[in-house]
Amino acid sequence: MSRVYNFSAGPAVLPEEVLKEAANEMLDYKGTGMSVMEMSHRSKAFEEIITEAEKDIRDLMNIPDNYKVLFLQGGASQQFAMIPMNLMKNKVADYIITGQWAKKAYKEAQKYGKVNAIASSEDKTFSYIPDCSDLPISEDADYVYICENNTIYGTKYKTLPNTKGKTLVADVSSCFLSEPVDVTKYGIIYGGVQKNVGPAGVVIVIIREDLITEDVLPGTPTMLQYKTHADAKSLYNTPPAYGIYICGKVFKWLKAQGGLAAMKEKNEKKAKILYDFLDESKLFKGTVVKEDRSLMNVPFVTGDEELDAKFVKEAKEAGFENLKGHRTVGGMRASIYNAMPIEGVEKLVEFMRKFEVANTK
Ligand SMILES: *Cc1c(COP(=O)(O)O)cnc(C)c1O
Repeated sequence: MSRVYNFSAGPAVLPEEVLKEAANEMLDYKGTGMSVMEMSHRSKAFEEIITEAEKDIRDLMNIPDNYKVLFLQGGASQQFAMIPMNLMKNKVADYIITGQWAKKAYKEAQKYGKVNAIASSEDKTFSYIPDCSDLPISEDADYVYICENNTIYGTKYKTLPNTKGKTLVADVSSCFLSEPVDVTKYGIIYGGVQKNVGPAGVVIVIIREDLITEDVLPGTPTMLQYKTHADAKSLYNTPPAYGIYICGKVFKWLKAQGGLAAMKEKNEKKAKILYDFLDESKLFKGTVVKEDRSLMNVPFVTGDEELDAKFVKEAKEAGFENLKGHRTVGGMRASIYNAMPIEGVEKLVEFMRKFEVANTK
């Protein structure tokens, strides 16, 4: 068996310890004689799994009691509709456009009300985060929406926008559990787990209780109402049970690593190795303004498409997978999520150094 260094943006690398544990429990989960995939979501064993998963993410993120944690399906993309359907009481919302995911959410919300793009970084291909200290927040906005870490472009908000008292809603798919957060600053924090937390198929929504009401837009399906899932503790229908089980193991792994403060330290150290190299390299360069660099997704280019392609090919041959940039951006992107070991980044930089020497005159 040999494992590669997987720099995929998502679905992405998971901790090896977690995968091994899951493998050990595959045929017989804790004496039940069956896999978690095969058991009833109403069984005692699964009830313990989901209860413990919720408890552990609450501990990790220090989630206050007046927030619910929901384990849902439909990916992050389904939240693009669910958020306006549930939150648009005035049918007005403000969106900050920092990349394709924010833009998709913005477009989807337009189906349900008046949606304002109050800031954007599209003028410079989303290579920075706009100044959000004094934005023209709409007086009757039901919420202000951001995508906190921009997976494709590699930017991250270092300070949250000043929403002038309005509810902040954030897509944190690609920075979930990568560092401590102050949950109280948000109305909703949500993310598809396949970037930094678990297998595709689960989206976690952390939502303040007062935002969970029956007062949703007319016609909102039962399955798309937060209240349905909050009332049923994420067991209204069959949840993505196996995915939740793996997320739970990742939460325990994160706790064993020392929690989110320790993860932040590790992630900063890891990212610094790569960014420092990009800053000194004569061949490779980062594409994002320094102040807004993501700790999770690091896009870079050589400035020559053919050389980029050569790099991606040779890197793959050397065991560094999925370094090709997003199809809309080109170049390269290294996603260095929680589960990417520091050696992975060190070895990548070593490889880049050699490639640079071999490909510069
Ligand atoms: C990947 C991603 C999405 C889309 O996730 P799906 O689960 O595939 O719908 C949305 N937002 C961000 C920030 C992402 O990285």
